[in-house]
Amino acid sequence: MQQKKAVIIGSGVAGMASAIRLAVQGYAVTVYEKNDYPGGKLSAFKTGGYHFDAGPSLFTQPQNIEELFTLANEPIEDYLLYHKIDIACKYFFENGKEINAYSNKDLFANEVQDKTGEPKENINEYLDRSEKLYNNVANIFLNYSLHKKSTWLHTRAIRAFSSVKFPYIFKSLNQYNTSFKTKETQQIFNRFATYNGSNPYKAPAMLSLIPHLEQTEGAYYPQGGMINITNALYKLALKKGVNFHFNAPVEKIICPDNIAVGVVVNYENIIADVIVSNSDVYFTYKHLLSNSIKAKKILRQERSSSALAFYWGINKNFPQLELHNILFSEDYAAEFEHIFKSKKLYSDPTVYINITSKIEKAQAPDGCENWFVMINVPATNTYNVEEVKAAARKNIIEKLNRILKTDIAQHIVTETFLHPQSIEANTGSYLGSLYGTSSNSKAAAFLRHPNFTKRIKNLYCCGGSVHPGGGIPLCLKSAKIVSDLVKHDIKNGRKIHA
Ligand SMILES: Cc1cc2nc3c(=O)[nH]c(=O)nc-3n(C[C@H](O)[C@H](O)[C@H](O)COP(=O)(O)OP(=O)(O)OC[C@H]3O[C@@H](n4cnc5c(N)ncnc54)[C@H](O)[C@@H]3O)c2cc1C
Repeated sequence: MQQKKAVIIGSGVAGMASAIRLAVQGYAVTVYEKNDYPGGKLSAFKTGGYHFDAGPSLFTQPQNIEELFTLANEPIEDYLLYHKIDIACKYFFENGKEINAYSNKDLFANEVQDKTGEPKENINEYLDRSEKLYNNVANIFLNYSLHKKSTWLHTRAIRAFSSVKFPYIFKSLNQYNTSFKTKETQQIFNRFATYNGSNPYKAPAMLSLIPHLEQTEGAYYPQGGMINITNALYKLALKKGVNFHFNAPVEKIICPDNIAVGVVVNYENIIADVIVSNSDVYFTYKHLLSNSIKAKKILRQERSSSALAFYWGINKNFPQLELHNILFSEDYAAEFEHIFKSKKLYSDPTVYINITSKIEKAQAPDGCENWFVMINVPATNTYNVEEVKAAARKNIIEKLNRILKTDIAQHIVTETFLHPQSIEANTGSYLGSLYGTSSNSKAAAFLRHPNFTKRIKNLYCCGGSVHPGGGIPLCLKSAKIVSDLVKHDIKNGRKIHA
């Protein structure tokens, strides 16, 4: 029998994970990538002796990557080494308080009690609920398509729903977190809404399951930086026989009679049995399927936040900083009002600083540090980049000087800037959103585009803009769901919903 062919559009983490899974299923897989490198948002660059991971910096749930290597029967340690970090994040407040969020639950609870007066029992009880919610709900939401009857006609669905209590849906994350007595603790736990680009004052308290991942399961660091996740997946895909074409933008998905049969790349028709789009689902409809009506419908769901980031080479060591650092805004509600409502730059932004040279000194010259400095901003394509850059730079520098008691500008020796328009240009993420769509509504999880297209047979979707959402762990889950759907559809045939 002739080997079946699969084409993947895009080599983001989800595209590469889908490629590996379909290759393991026996498909001849070809990936077409418009850039000249793999990884999409998960890329890196070097300048002036400094290494910078360009996008994601927080690595959680390595088991999603381990699963790919187990499936492919390859030893992960030959491809990727990583370890759990002791301090998941260090928090700084305008009132001078500093809190280490230890990856160990008890240490973290004690630290918050010591620094803020929040009883440690409150933290422990919250994290216990977070863990329980995650264990009951995550399986169904993260491992299955929510758009298939079979998902719901199963005992696991009943178990998941019986554990979803009223407040998880009808309270916002912020309302839920007012159970904490101290403002600092509320702010720390509100922040987890930003892990999928959402607003804690709107997103449902269901997102209270996220802290379990960082504070209980723990945060990890991949040796060589986040780019080595991309390198490991790329190498594994090659090992499994996947073909990659770079500088190869897919222009069109060929689908006569609502059956996807191939793609057009560089004016050439490439025929395949299965097509998986890792491109933003809005662009998949708008450009690859020329379906502007459906593309417009997708925009009814609010995009996640985007980011402005400065990659700064710093000619000094800052011993008070860790790998991950957050310098909180004084008024968190006002900050999110700016990001999601007035869509303006906020003058006192929460600043995130990631410094991988804290763990691997070689990532910066001797006595120096590589700072990735990021603030959350609206997803947009209307910024006047130079104006926004100047304003954000000023706001960030003032905040750093205030909290770190320094004059940071004199220590910046290299600077590269990232903004929503460059994120869209580099990765094809509409409006530069980091995580596809936000979770700012109760129904967000159900409104995200499924991992298949209801009206087009043989076309599947993976990545941050579709179910179950953005962030590396969820993108990897989307690849698993796609691969399971393909297997199921090949075995059982698939109806298309005309
Ligand atoms: C600044 C920043 C910080 C982040 N921080 C974190 C973090 O700390 N932790 C975390 O887990 N996540 C983080 N994220 C989110 C995370 O990076 C993404 O959710 C994830 O990497 C998206 O992967 P993806 O598979 O959806 O593909 P993407 O990375 O979006 O890549 C899609 C690929 O498809 C290609 N493509 C698109 N259209 C076409 C076409 N027509 N033809 C050919 N190729 C095409 C693009 O060029 C791109 O390479 C961050 C993102 C950014 C930008």
